[in-house]
Amino acid sequence: MRIGFGYDAHRLAPGRPLILCGVNVPSDFGPEGHSDADAPLHALADALLGAAALGDIGAHFPDTDWRWRGADSRVILGETYNLVRLAGYALSNADITIVLQRPKIADYIERMRKSVADTLGCDAGQISVKATTEESMGFTGSGEGISAYAVVLLEGLQ
Ligand code: MG
Repeated sequence: MRIGFGYDAHRLAPGRPLILCGVNVPSDFGPEGHSDADAPLHALADALLGAAALGDIGAHFPDTDWRWRGADSRVILGETYNLVRLAGYALSNADITIVLQRPKIADYIERMRKSVADTLGCDAGQISVKATTEESMGFTGSGEGISAYAVVLLEGLQ
């Protein structure tokens, strides 16, 4: 078994879509980035790569590459998981935490779990998505940005 950890943060800007774990959450602002800037999926992809010691998301999906401009991060996550499986591992479970002051995203959590599970071809029971704020402190608290953390456990394929 292998454990992996991932982290990501993006600046929030007016007029950008707020896409979290592949789910479009109604909002008048969203994260800036080269792809769709889905911070929790980027954290999850980095956790998967970390668990398999395959480098990081920036090495595999560079923001200088036009292919990932405006990309749906579910594609990045799916391609990442293909690399992990080729290396001989399968996901046991993943636990994601999204840190965002507003809007409230509790009503979208179940859809996010299903979105991640569908992308990885696993059961939603293997995917946890949690949300928290930082109590108005720091860059997430001020609304300047969003951050996300993910941990995964991989099992070796026999
Ligand atoms: Mg990112």
